[in-house]
Amino acid sequence: MSEQSLDSRLAVIALGSNIGDTKAYVTGAAEAVANLEGVTLVKMSKLYQSEPAHLVDQDIFTNAVMTVRVDNSLSTIDLLHQLQAIEINFHRVRHEHWGPRTLDLDIIDVQGELSDTDELRIPHPYALVRDFVVTPLLEIAPGYVLADGSPVSRDTVQYGAVISVDD
Ligand code: ADP
Ligand code: MG
Repeated sequence: MSEQSLDSRLAVIALGSNIGDTKAYVTGAAEAVANLEGVTLVKMSKLYQSEPAHLVDQDIFTNAVMTVRVDNSLSTIDLLHQLQAIEINFHRVRHEHWGPRTLDLDIIDVQGELSDTDELRIPHPYALVRDFVVTPLLEIAPGYVLADGSPVSRDTVQYGAVISVDD
């Protein structure tokens, strides 16, 4: 364990977009997350194109996953609020009228923390069944184990198949 782990914890954030310039949204949002006070980028995955998870008549998604260290001065709820502010910023500045899927930022996992409220469920309840989360996460953190002890594996994937990757 690094010294840094005494005052920060590792978190996994998933990014998704299926409206407009989806790659630019995901890349720009990742930069915004990494620039948050108290957040330090560990690793950013490649950009993945994936099938829409639920609604079939949606456009292809761009997805990515990032690992970050979160300073213990920033609570996970405050991190969530910062991510929501980034989502709103991206909608408003670029495509105000285009609805909420322009950018989705989800907290997938925070090491050492469990939460089961409507506002914050971690580990994210669908993390292990979504290929667009599992595949990028395994790219940047092979053998990753969620805070509830579940190992991340392609065996549990059920939908949201990754169909291409930007090298
Ligand atoms: P989706 O479930 O498809 O990501 P939204 O992004 O619109 O849909 O959901 C946002 C809501 O989910 C917010 O009210 C937020 O508080 C709640 N939420 C619960 N757990 C999480 C989490 N782990 N990451 C992000 N949002 C979460
Ligand atoms: Mg979300």
